[in-house]
Amino acid sequence: MAGTFGNPEVVQEEVDILIIGGGMAACGAAYEIMPWIGAAKDAGVDITVKLVDKAAMDRSGAVAQGLSAINTYIGPNQDPADYARMVSNDLMGITRDDLAYDLGRNVDDSVHLFEEWGLPIWKTVNGERFDGATWPKEGGKLLKDGGDPVRSGKWQIMINGESYKWIVAEAAKKALGSDNIQERVFIVKLVNDANDKNRVAGAVGFSTREDKVYVYKFKACLLVAGGCVNIFRPRSVGEGQGRAWYPVWNAGSTYTMAAEAGAELTMMENRFVPARFKDGYGPVGAWFLLFKAQATNAYGEVYMVKNKELLNDYPPYGQAAVPASCLRNHLMLKEMKEGRGPIYMDTVTALAKLRETLSPREVKHLEAEAWEDFLDMCIGQCGIWVGENIEPEKKNSELMPTEPYLLGSHSGCCGIWASGPDDVGAPTTEEHPDKDLIPAHLPQGWNWGYRSMTTVRGLFTAGDGVGASGHKFSSGSHTEGRMCAQSMVKFVMDNKDWVPTLDTSVESLVEEIYRPVRTFLEHKDYTTAIDVNPHYITPRMLQFRLQKIMDEYVAGVATYYTTNGHMLAVAEEKLGMLKEDAVKMRAKDLHELLRAWENYHRILTAEAHMKHIQFRKESRYPGFYYRMDHNYVDETNWHCFVNSVYDKETKTWNVFKRAHKDLVDKSK
Ligand code: FAD
Repeated sequence: MAGTFGNPEVVQEEVDILIIGGGMAACGAAYEIMPWIGAAKDAGVDITVKLVDKAAMDRSGAVAQGLSAINTYIGPNQDPADYARMVSNDLMGITRDDLAYDLGRNVDDSVHLFEEWGLPIWKTVNGERFDGATWPKEGGKLLKDGGDPVRSGKWQIMINGESYKWIVAEAAKKALGSDNIQERVFIVKLVNDANDKNRVAGAVGFSTREDKVYVYKFKACLLVAGGCVNIFRPRSVGEGQGRAWYPVWNAGSTYTMAAEAGAELTMMENRFVPARFKDGYGPVGAWFLLFKAQATNAYGEVYMVKNKELLNDYPPYGQAAVPASCLRNHLMLKEMKEGRGPIYMDTVTALAKLRETLSPREVKHLEAEAWEDFLDMCIGQCGIWVGENIEPEKKNSELMPTEPYLLGSHSGCCGIWASGPDDVGAPTTEEHPDKDLIPAHLPQGWNWGYRSMTTVRGLFTAGDGVGASGHKFSSGSHTEGRMCAQSMVKFVMDNKDWVPTLDTSVESLVEEIYRPVRTFLEHKDYTTAIDVNPHYITPRMLQFRLQKIMDEYVAGVATYYTTNGHMLAVAEEKLGMLKEDAVKMRAKDLHELLRAWENYHRILTAEAHMKHIQFRKESRYPGFYYRMDHNYVDETNWHCFVNSVYDKETKTWNVFKRAHKDLVDKSK
């Protein structure tokens, strides 16, 4: 029976594997899983799979707008160990080498597939450069059949990627089959098994288009719902507020749902504060790396040169050939705080220099590439350039560090503690600084049987979900998704007779999910102004409250990314009250129901971030955040992972240290 707004239809389904999300990692898993399911069938085990995405896969997730570069391609002449070294240095030394190395040795295969599926990758053949527009029709495959990819950096290659997500999604959909895909279903929570608290047995969500609640039961689940945006007050205001660097539709669902299911989180104190073109949030990588532009203060001084000595405060991370991303921000912030802003990308000088060595035709082509860079992945930035009469060869563009974002696959490493490959080492139990605080049910080592399984049985993650291993980017997230496909099938085969039993009744789950709707319907006639009502709070207003708390107390832009123990204590109290009030959110339609649950996911993710910053008594990421009461990097006491487990019954966090170990020699 079709549901109504107050009384949704309840659809119950059972599959063996549920994939939550339709982004890069999910597409990787979807593409990879069918041959493994075929192999299982040959071995006598039938496995069913379903993918659910809150949006439409063709344009969902962080790659929705497209990209202009694939940021992780190792290539034939580079060593995955060097890649793991870069990841570690950029993230101030605290990453899992097992995860990074494993990714490095596997990632290129996904890039080769992208090309095979039609993604134009720039290439140099016999000294001549080809891109999507100029590639000869009879062409060949770039990376397999010769020619060198055009690199914008040691690990990055350039693409014409406006349709990147479309291409990757098409392959995923074709492989998985449209009957196994459900779009526009927002998953609200995972459900633990009634007989095993540390295992997942199901998930529940709702349609964003129809009055339907979906309850899934499964043996294994891949939770790949991306990172988290909009927990901090954005720099954009008014009508521009939907504009952010990271896509606003990833709302911390990965971290919150995993935490509530009991999964161990890692490095949730980490954040990414990208320095981007002001207001449009346009990418700067091509300008720095391809066009060799420099960033300056308002007086034309190159702050990376002028403030170089500040890097010596943070050995060895500041002294690497490419200093850690946060430290580059640190040098920029000094100029801003001391009143020498605005900061500019000196596009005028960069293009003039290129003109000295290139023909006018080549320069014209380069200028077109500069626009293309934005058109491929951040059209809004073109709007800014057009609206502000910016011709990059004549007028420099402002740069600005953005509000903070939480993610695990770009230049950040917060996320979920995941099982690594089985052929590399890990610290022993005795090495853990907090060994007595680590809950007994959690694994000690870095591998517990199934690659990318979290510490909750049956729950896997990839991409932005996997913590302590940033710099995977689009290609790496796809690769991690593929790895999960293989290990989830193995897990299901090993548990083929296990029957999932939900620990909560379907009625209570439906009641909880539709609570914002019922709150609205019950109280809407109390006032004549629909948005003003003592019985409920609109999701929009609640989000403002969250962003204000995080901005002002947890090192947002309002305080130049600074905080201290006292400010965090205030944040803790206010977040507690916000959590209480969150149950009073209203939903006047399905769109608001989506907004309400996104906010709920944001709040718990924000709380995890705050708790981890509170626990780590140092400033591990200067330029991303500063704890002013511990404004130093303390390698003696804090060269370790900070991990946590959330108890959904008591609503409390257990935060603890785990030992860090270099598996790749960092002295090289
Ligand atoms: P995503 O691809 O973001 O996918 C998340 C998916 O989860 C989406 O389908 C979303 O709809 C779905 N979802 C979210 N919540 C729910 C829910 N509750 N229920 C159901 N579904 C849900 N990489 C590069 O290689 N090169 C670049 O130049 C580059 N630039 C970038 C620029 C920006 C601004 C950003 C944000 C990222 C960039 N990346 C780049 C990184 C790349 O986009 C990510 O690494 C990659 O998309 C992460 O994959 P993922 O699957 O973890 O998340």
